[in-house]
Amino acid sequence: MIIKKTPESIACYLRDASNFSGGNAEEVVIPENSEESVSFLRNETRNVTISGAGTGLTASRIPSEGVIISLERLNKIFKEDESSVNVGPAVTLNELQSFLSNSGWFYPPNPTEKWASIGGTLATNASGSRSYKYGVTRDYVEEVELVLVDGRKTILKRGLKISEPLKLEDGSQILFPDISYQSPKCKNAAGYFVQPGMDWLDLFIGSDGSLGIFTKIVLRLLPSPADFVSGILFFDEERACWELVPKIRSFNGQKIDPCSLEYFDHNSLERLKVKYKNIPAHSRAALFFEQDISQSNDYDSTLENWYKFLSDENIFLEDSWFAQGEKDTQLFHEFRHDVPIIVNEENSRAGRVKLGTDMAVSDNHFISMMEFYQETLEISGLDHVIFGHLGDNHLHINLLPKESQMNDAQHLYDQMVGQILKWKGTISAEHGIGKIKKKYFAKMIGPEGLNDLRKIKGCLDVGYRLGVGNII
Ligand SMILES: Cc1cc2nc3c(=O)[nH]c(=O)nc-3n(C[C@H](O)[C@H](O)[C@H](O)COP(=O)(O)OP(=O)(O)OC[C@H]3O[C@@H](n4cnc5c(N)ncnc54)[C@H](O)[C@@H]3O)c2cc1C
Repeated sequence: MIIKKTPESIACYLRDASNFSGGNAEEVVIPENSEESVSFLRNETRNVTISGAGTGLTASRIPSEGVIISLERLNKIFKEDESSVNVGPAVTLNELQSFLSNSGWFYPPNPTEKWASIGGTLATNASGSRSYKYGVTRDYVEEVELVLVDGRKTILKRGLKISEPLKLEDGSQILFPDISYQSPKCKNAAGYFVQPGMDWLDLFIGSDGSLGIFTKIVLRLLPSPADFVSGILFFDEERACWELVPKIRSFNGQKIDPCSLEYFDHNSLERLKVKYKNIPAHSRAALFFEQDISQSNDYDSTLENWYKFLSDENIFLEDSWFAQGEKDTQLFHEFRHDVPIIVNEENSRAGRVKLGTDMAVSDNHFISMMEFYQETLEISGLDHVIFGHLGDNHLHINLLPKESQMNDAQHLYDQMVGQILKWKGTISAEHGIGKIKKKYFAKMIGPEGLNDLRKIKGCLDVGYRLGVGNII
């Protein structure tokens, strides 16, 4: 086991992709295998924070005291059987995708940040553009080896319900507490996942590194699609784009069955036009769609279905882009990924701090949510971009205030949270709560909800020592 103690060697573990500062730790321990992490934890009494790859956006891997456990040496990857893969928590999404390339198998969750570790993506229940059809990380986790902060270990498999006791290897058992809290029904990454009849596994996924440590992970794979039909549709006005989404949903997977539906507002397009000169000048919104097909000879008929649907909806096909092969598909993904990159670069140049939202609502509030965003943002006069997962009613609004407008931006953020919560939505559908969204999470679930989550935390981490400061 490696132990790092000097401030210089610890500094990089006290950062992630949030703007959080002020992290502190006595040392970083790096076990060579899960047995070493177990024996370290059995003898440890300090607070412990788990470190993944540090791409998180909520400071959840940054402690204010105690010791950091980094799983970076647990990076083995091998096929468990034909349709599943066994990965160490430190394996990155990039490494997993390379390992699977040309295997005929595919891991559907596709968060934008490919340097994230698989352990980190489980802890945040990460998702990406394809979650519209394929769902989130949780849907692909079959089994984990899990270590509690006191060093007790278990193998958690799908099917072990919270109505049954969680059995640890030392013979002890933990019962799920009697609580009334339930997670919201929309896409959600805020707080612990709690639904009646769920598996124990589901509780640990998305728990922001505060309930247990994943030391081995078995992921379910799907057969690779033969191809993707994809396009970018441009619209003269935003509403025309929004209104297409419920129509696409109404197909219920028949004929039109996209896996991604990603949005770009006017301000995103204006920024993208600098690189992509052929974006139609008059466009005010765009929609990237992607549909997977299982057999290559379905390509033409699927594309025909899209042409027909879009023509029937009076979408001007001449202004739209349709991928002509793998290279275009890549380019369309790059187009999507360029928005946050351009905004981040702009911010660095301007020395500006962005306020980013990650909220979602259920389908029935979708159009009202879009109208609300448009209206309030227009009134605020603040520079902003809106992009993201339109199909999931889940958009990222980046507020880009000047220094003198910081209070206005914060006020607007609060106003948006207030409205989303009135619709029983979530304040985080993707990035989690960590340390920086706790104020809003407390508002979202109220004192009783928080109390229920404390009961869950207390039965798995009696001394409240793991991931201190995250979520609760
Ligand atoms: C440019 C950019 C784009 C992004 N795009 C997306 C996106 O599309 N979708 C999305 O969901 N997120 C996205 N993110 C956020 C981030 O990539 C994810 O939250 C990711 O899952 C974090 O993984 P990590 O390994 O970096 O974890 P870290 O940041 O190191 O840690 C995150 C949390 O995971 C816990 N953790 C880490 N390893 C383990 C383990 N083995 N066991 C238990 N807990 C553990 C930590 O304690 C912490 O609470 C993006 C981030 C950036 C910077």
